[in-house]
Amino acid sequence: MSSTYHRVLLKLSGEIFQRDALIGDIVRQLIRAHKKGVKLALVLGGGNIIRGRTARQFDPVAADQAGMLATVINGIILTEKLKPEAPVCHLAAIPVGKFVPQYTINQARLLLEEGKILVLSGGTGNPFFSTDSAAALRALELNMEIILKGTKVPGIFSADPEKYPDAQFYPRITYEQALAEGLKVMDQTAFALCREHRIPIVVFDINQPDAILKIIGGKKIGSCVC
Ligand code: UDP
Repeated sequence: MSSTYHRVLLKLSGEIFQRDALIGDIVRQLIRAHKKGVKLALVLGGGNIIRGRTARQFDPVAADQAGMLATVINGIILTEKLKPEAPVCHLAAIPVGKFVPQYTINQARLLLEEGKILVLSGGTGNPFFSTDSAAALRALELNMEIILKGTKVPGIFSADPEKYPDAQFYPRITYEQALAEGLKVMDQTAFALCREHRIPIVVFDINQPDAILKIIGGKKIGSCVC
């Protein structure tokens, strides 16, 4: 497989950390892509541990801080899984002392050009954002060509396919159409950033075998917002 994309940002939701076999498979695909010279940045969610917006018992800022820390825990786990196979560097958007170096754009760019896989945790470092926003922001900062967003469904539909089996599947959709139809591709802040800077977003089923490799190789799977 040759690569169509050479600079790829993959957003991994926290939920994947509940499934060891799935993480193992994602790691295998990432290593193969890396060996082909693809520059990879991975932005991690933390929803398997805590999501600020659903932890209503807390002050929203404290809940988001806990959420950001949750992504750091996932970052440590994913880094350990990648480390035996490829050069990897974990950077966190929030200071976490001795554990993980802090993200700066220059450092991240340097490490990426050196061939490191970047694991990026801590979201944007600010409450009231999500890791989708972090994915959009980091994609811009690191000059990524595309954002891949793995989900539980095969892509973007006119309505929730789990509730509405007749929902129409969109293999390709413009930012404007997604907006006009009120389709939730990413949260609004993230989507606005991608739209303004015309970064393509591919939404795909993370469980589909070799999906990451196929997309990087140019296969049209999932839905592309572009
Ligand atoms: N979060 C935040 N600022 C950010 C990114 C994340 O405050 O820039 C917090 C927020 O509480 C969020 C949690 O971290 O709910 C975990 O991230 P997210 O919900 O995006 O994870 P995912 O749903 O992808 O697992």
